[in-house]
Amino acid sequence: MEYKLADRMSYLKASEIREILKVTERPEVISFAGGLPAPELFPIEAIQEASNRVFEEEGYKALQYTTTEGYRPLREWISNRMNKRWQTAFEPDNIVLTHGSQQALDLSGKVFLDQGDIVLCESPTYLAAISAFKAYGCEFIEVPTDNEGMITSQVESILETQGNRVKLIYVIPDFQNPTGRTWSLRRREQLVKLATKYEIVIIEDNPYGELRFEGEMLPSLQSFDDVGCVVSLGSFSKVFCPGYRIGWVMAHEKLIEKYVLVKQGADLQCNTMAQMVISKYLELYNIDEHIDKIRDVYRQRRDAAIEVMEKEFPKEVKFTRPEGGLFAWVELPTHINARVVLEKCLEKNVAFVPGGSFFPNGGNENTLRLNFSNMPVDRIKEGLKCLARVLNQLNIT
Ligand code: PMP
Repeated sequence: MEYKLADRMSYLKASEIREILKVTERPEVISFAGGLPAPELFPIEAIQEASNRVFEEEGYKALQYTTTEGYRPLREWISNRMNKRWQTAFEPDNIVLTHGSQQALDLSGKVFLDQGDIVLCESPTYLAAISAFKAYGCEFIEVPTDNEGMITSQVESILETQGNRVKLIYVIPDFQNPTGRTWSLRRREQLVKLATKYEIVIIEDNPYGELRFEGEMLPSLQSFDDVGCVVSLGSFSKVFCPGYRIGWVMAHEKLIEKYVLVKQGADLQCNTMAQMVISKYLELYNIDEHIDKIRDVYRQRRDAAIEVMEKEFPKEVKFTRPEGGLFAWVELPTHINARVVLEKCLEKNVAFVPGGSFFPNGGNENTLRLNFSNMPVDRIKEGLKCLARVLNQLNIT
């Protein structure tokens, strides 16, 4: 049968990462490809205890439908924590819980984007945000980024010329996926000023902000926002576990109403049990102690990765030194294609994601992303030494 699909299906293609991840399921493969947290750090016993308590104390409630906005005690916890971190004054009513921040991205597309609208994003940016927004028929303008984040003078000139077609500015200011970079304070402030002046919404996606290994925490874009132009997305995936699929949108109430409307059409509400178990865990345990453990382990893994790259990569190869998060980014000389490097690495059972797919408008095939959260130090070293050997055998200069 010839299926008559929606036009949007022609904008979408299978994610390259998902294809590579199939290969990495083989146990012998050393994979820098996914973005998975370290499973051995999931607080399984504590979650089991929290879950038993939910069943015993409020089992009927946990198995029932709940509101679209989500379980109020959990929204209270999130608003309190964010207000403390960012010196903001949000209420639980400024939050809607979502199935991961991934759903929040899709709902953002549904709320804001019409066919032909423009989204400004960092170059490169998060692959699955590209897919989420693309489904709504938007185009992307990639804004060049440097070590301080998006180059805001470029944002201004784009807004001057294309202002009325730009609907969203999508950014990941902390330990960005895929580069691991963190924005400077002044760029954060400047972007919010521009968004305020041109009345454009910024989607600030921040699943990694709590995973800082060193240095000072920087304020969220939302803490500079006086007019409600910043929508922040958060997630329990990287600080707790991704399997429950709980994240959130925090924004001005007028916008939260819109997100609630589209979420009703998408899935009515988040999984009640997951929301209540997370909330019970937060009541019974100290999540900061747990996050400290994650940071310690990831810091060691980052250090191991940087050490090998510094010692063994050819000197023409550039890479980021992230202060937190899960990823580092590698730039090869422009004539080297990372997909060719990947093929050679896969023969030796080492995998990573070529960077080209993180650029919505293509190009940049000389880049690649390395995840360092999901493997012990010895595997990280072995895998990167292998990548270094492959790079050293190429005609790199
Ligand atoms: N945004 C970014 C930048 C991410 O890297 C990820 C996951 N890798 C997500 C959103 C989605 O995460 P989740 O849905 O698990 O919260």
